[in-house]
Amino acid sequence: MTDTPTQLFIGGAWVDASDGATLPVDDPATGEVLCHVADAGPKDAGLAEEAAVRAQEEWARTAPRVRSEILRRAYEIIIERTDELAHLMTAEMGKPLAEARGEVAYAAEFFRWFSEEAARIDGGFGTLPDGRNRMLLSRRPVGPCLLITPWNFPLAMGTRKIGPAVAAGCTMVLKPAPQTPLSSLALAAILQEAGLPDGVLNVVTTSRAGEVCEPLLRGGRIRKLSFTGSTAVGQLLLAQSAQAVVRTSMELGGNAPFVVFEDADLDKAVDGAMVAKMRNMGEACTAANRFFVHRSVAEEFGRRLAERMGALVVGLGTREGVDVGPLIDRRGRAKVEELVADAVKRGARVLVGGRTPEGPGCFYPPTVLADVDPASRLMDTEIFGPVAAILTFDDEDEVIRRANDTPWGLVGYVFTEGLDRALRVSERLEVGMVGLNTGLVSNPAAPFGGVKQSGLGREGGRVGIDEFLEYQYLAVPVR
Ligand code: NAD
Repeated sequence: MTDTPTQLFIGGAWVDASDGATLPVDDPATGEVLCHVADAGPKDAGLAEEAAVRAQEEWARTAPRVRSEILRRAYEIIIERTDELAHLMTAEMGKPLAEARGEVAYAAEFFRWFSEEAARIDGGFGTLPDGRNRMLLSRRPVGPCLLITPWNFPLAMGTRKIGPAVAAGCTMVLKPAPQTPLSSLALAAILQEAGLPDGVLNVVTTSRAGEVCEPLLRGGRIRKLSFTGSTAVGQLLLAQSAQAVVRTSMELGGNAPFVVFEDADLDKAVDGAMVAKMRNMGEACTAANRFFVHRSVAEEFGRRLAERMGALVVGLGTREGVDVGPLIDRRGRAKVEELVADAVKRGARVLVGGRTPEGPGCFYPPTVLADVDPASRLMDTEIFGPVAAILTFDDEDEVIRRANDTPWGLVGYVFTEGLDRALRVSERLEVGMVGLNTGLVSNPAAPFGGVKQSGLGREGGRVGIDEFLEYQYLAVPVR
């Protein structure tokens, strides 16, 4: 912690906010202040933008192999410092160390993946159908980018954007979430050490997100916004991006259905549910939010899930053996409490959990609710906590209709042993990703993203770099 930078990173230099402002970073397990970081204002954001704009032309000309090697070196440094980065993440975000180590590996993998992609940016050449012109196609970096990330995966949400931006030759202003700025600052220091030129990445930590980002989006010099966060903020940023016609990638909220058919292997379904629900304490956009379980197996599934959830160890994320850390803050926990209270008021049975513990920190116990009324608020709200809400269904058409009856469409989970049904149901779900007999879909080599109000574009996979590239077409007459 002592070595972690706490200043803004602008043009390759670590600097205080121009008005000297700072913001506290809290430990969600104790409520205590860990440290203070610089609190950027619009003037600082302008300086960061200026640095990114200035660095763009030369960075775009850098050989792809050079960009690739920087990412590769950064990947190796991250892996070497896994423990240090995991402790930092647990301190500011609360997730147990084992999960934090998992996120460090996941985050690093985006750099390794995009270090490989940097060297594979292709173009095209051909004669047009009329035979009069040749067509030369080249791909160029879209330009200076604004990257905005959430607090739930403080390192991976950064590398998932920075990796492809570096690979494509874009410069950046990164604005991390105010709850978890330290992981992003540590990442900037690693990239600098790995040889990233000054000004290519600039980091502004701030408690004044709107004031800092809006002028950049409206100003016309930022050419791309890549945002991960809530749908409500995403909608606001899309509107702000319209004025200067900024290209956007949006990774927004989810409301994942988790469907267990009568022919499912219940061992697999319960294992999958534990991952889809409990990864990151349920604070994931991919978290299973609505469990639809066939009436004939619902009781058994609920009993087994409650047994597993009840056996999880809740406590300080820094303690080895702890499975479930605190939620991010009191507001986050209060939301979970309200959603559970609303479901119970409407008749849900609490199979396990459901009671906020006494004492400091934002802890909430793993909870399973059965017989949830479809009118409950948690059916159309991201729970973002360790609460599994079980509803029953009777037939396939009905469950597909109910699963799709939401404005979101990030991910769905389907458990069945029938191949025909597995494919048929997956194809009918209105989602960008499906976990088929698995509770985990995220992988840097796969395109991550949603449909409907869950977002625009994809991160990771072969297509992840496309979000940061533009085509240029040259018409050359055939003479
Ligand atoms: P949030 O929308 O409140 O904040 C996300 C980021 O936007 C933060 O950095 C925040 O400071 C910033 N922000 C807030 N208001 C802003 C404004 N007016 N202008 C510019 N920036 C602004 O979300 P959160 O609570 O940090 O994260 C949780 C949300 O993120 C959930 O909805 C979750 O589903 C979503 N999420 C989505 C994905 C995905 O890939 N689809 C991944 C992780 C999280």
